[in-house]
Amino acid sequence: MPMPQQCFFCSQNLTNVDYKEVDLLRRFVSSQAKIIDPRHTGICAKHQRKLALAIKRARFMGLLAYVRK
Ligand SMILES: [Zn+2]
Repeated sequence: MPMPQQCFFCSQNLTNVDYKEVDLLRRFVSSQAKIIDPRHTGICAKHQRKLALAIKRARFMGLLAYVRK
């Protein structure tokens, strides 16, 4: 995975992270279904919090797996 210099969501002018954007959320989740360290993804602290919340919500809604095999 390439390391972006800037926060993805800031560069896209996205203020909120939509939990329904599963394909997008998957980019920030590792193969072990863990949220990837923001130091690796370049996500700023503000969006990292929203991203974590969106991922939790997506899991709760059954859109995103807790553990991937
Ligand atoms: Zn950001």
